[in-house]
Amino acid sequence: MSSTRYELRGHTALITLDHPPVNGLGAALRTGIMDALDRAQADPAVEAIVITGSERAFSGGADVKEFGTAAAAREPRLPVVIAALENSPKPVVAAISGVCMGGGLELALGAHCRVARADAQIALPEVKLGLLPGAGGTQRLPRVIGLEAALNMIVSGATLPARQLEGTALFDAVTDGDPLPAALALAGQVVAEGKPLERVRDLKVKDPQAEAFLQFARNTVAATSKHFPAPLKCVEAVAMCLNKPFDEALRLERELFLGLMTTPESRALRHVFAAERAAGKLPDLPEDTPLRTIAKVGVIGAGTMGGGITMNFLNAGIPVVLLEMKQEALDKGLATIRRNYENSMKKGKLKPEQVEQRLALVTPTLAYDAFKDVDLVIEAVFESMDVKKQVFTALDAVCKPGAILASNTSYLNIDAIAATTQRPQDVLGLHFFSPANVMRLLEVVRGAKTAPDVLATCMALAKKIKKVAVVSGVCDGFIGNRMLARYGAAAAGLINAGASPQQVDGALQAFGMAMGPYRMGDLAGLDIGWATRKRKAAEAGVAMKPVIADKLCEAGRFGQKTGAGWYRYDAGSRDPIPDPVTQGIIDAYRAEHGIQPRQIDDGEIVERCMYALVNEGARILAEGIAARASDIDIVYLNGYGFPQHRGGPMLYADIVGLPNVVRALRRFAGEPGADPSWQPAPLLVQLAEEGKSFN
Ligand code: NAD
Repeated sequence: MSSTRYELRGHTALITLDHPPVNGLGAALRTGIMDALDRAQADPAVEAIVITGSERAFSGGADVKEFGTAAAAREPRLPVVIAALENSPKPVVAAISGVCMGGGLELALGAHCRVARADAQIALPEVKLGLLPGAGGTQRLPRVIGLEAALNMIVSGATLPARQLEGTALFDAVTDGDPLPAALALAGQVVAEGKPLERVRDLKVKDPQAEAFLQFARNTVAATSKHFPAPLKCVEAVAMCLNKPFDEALRLERELFLGLMTTPESRALRHVFAAERAAGKLPDLPEDTPLRTIAKVGVIGAGTMGGGITMNFLNAGIPVVLLEMKQEALDKGLATIRRNYENSMKKGKLKPEQVEQRLALVTPTLAYDAFKDVDLVIEAVFESMDVKKQVFTALDAVCKPGAILASNTSYLNIDAIAATTQRPQDVLGLHFFSPANVMRLLEVVRGAKTAPDVLATCMALAKKIKKVAVVSGVCDGFIGNRMLARYGAAAAGLINAGASPQQVDGALQAFGMAMGPYRMGDLAGLDIGWATRKRKAAEAGVAMKPVIADKLCEAGRFGQKTGAGWYRYDAGSRDPIPDPVTQGIIDAYRAEHGIQPRQIDDGEIVERCMYALVNEGARILAEGIAARASDIDIVYLNGYGFPQHRGGPMLYADIVGLPNVVRALRRFAGEPGADPSWQPAPLLVQLAEEGKSFN
């Protein structure tokens, strides 16, 4: 099947790219374009050529699926196709609608003229995958829109509507509707005029301030993209348009592109791109699973989480019934929502009428009766099984048949909650992250009896409220918090053995984590974990053995909210200050347990904390709690401040090499008194032995 269509419109050959959904420039389409060009050149009746795509896409650029495969290198490669357009003796006009990005824009720059629909989306977004435009984009775009504008587009990867670029040499015309008639007319006009054809490569970049601007760009880019090599390479490539012969610049651009392709940062960004598209696809959940309608939502609890969860739906235009136990709590919750919106308004992100429109969508209530007609209820009350069971019993009595009943619990067993209802098939976990109106991650927790259409409906709803959703099975803490427990234990082990909180935080922040575990603990509040440990000890009927975090709480140090935790805080400031009081508590703990502190280097801190995550991730994968390793990466990247340039803990392990991870885990497990959880997970060992990786 050909991926281009060829037809004659009078004396013009019309080549239509026909490779849905976005005319990705894989080997088949590149070949199709070349064949069509050859045909047009060979036909003496053809005087001009128009190349176009669909309404949705001229072309979205390279076929990402081809990256790193033999097909990517198969001739004709994109630069060859572009040169064939550019060197065509018959004029070539591109007619552009929809997306025209990356290789798609580079292709259009090979034409002699371009006509675009005003709302066509124009970009060179390669930098977002840790790359640069590798088919002449860095050389041709500055020649048509100027050095500064081109550099900004290439370094940011931003998308502009064609209308914004009207008046530059990028477009000969910008049309309100279909650009094809204007493109065909232009082709005829160029033939009639008979002037020599203008190639973009022959234009000169005129910019008297070029050197000063480039120096400014280098400084700014270096300061704002410290973990990523691609943006600086973009500047380097664009700079060549000023002083290098065109063909040499193309060759060097290609070299820079291929160099970036092998960097771990680009690998990580491409992994994230693919992982986000894969997340949410479940092998046993067909794409055509019917969805339930969610037109009205109920939220229980207007506290930290309930308020943020409510805002997600208001933002999407979905009405919410918000229930609390007492009027006072309800008023407080609503006031917080209003304050959040008003802050957005002050920053210019919302108009005053939008604030009122959103608030008008909330119906506050103290009575369960108000949930009679909601399609979904999300419970965000205190983290106690008894309270949750009472809530779900009440919901079961009042909600209409087919309503979805969800819990935002962080740790509790969804199946036990579902069992308190007569409709466990309609129950699941929807685990939002704090602040719920900001954080992108949503863990969708599938209970043993959750119906497929309930799961599919919530995955679709997640998209609607702009979340990235990952499905988790039921276990203590689901994917993210279960792994976090091992990470926290590894960090605690380091403190016991001789590290300081500031050293552990510093090493992990230098690795790229948004915040180290101790700053994070102070922010979230240390009393929550303290209460959980007390409860668990009581439930197990054993005496609690206080850890250092408990000793801090015993001293009234709950974190930022009490002005001190692992660190101390000056009034009104969130800057952590290392505190001798904490060090005293740590020293006393070590003395009490006969621990002789040792020197610990930053490398060991990163190794232990990361491999603790990876090892638990491998267990989660083996148990089927996560469907794929990249889902775990998505959870960590979007919910736990894991650095994007590392691509998530599981990709990090792949890059380090699984045999190296296993060897280190065995070393930790073999230490005297080591926690058994350091034993490498069987799946990890198996993959390492088979020479395989997680991804
Ligand atoms: P919170 O204490 O801030 O809010 C809980 C609210 O629920 C309070 O306003 C309380 O008045 C109300 N409430 C309690 N029992 C109720 C009942 N029977 N009926 C109606 N309202 C009731 O707590 P939170 O931090 O918002 O946590 C809520 C849930 O979300 C917990 O299950 C928690 O584990 C989970 N969670 C919390 C976070 C977080 O970072 N805070 C993150 C993810 C999930």
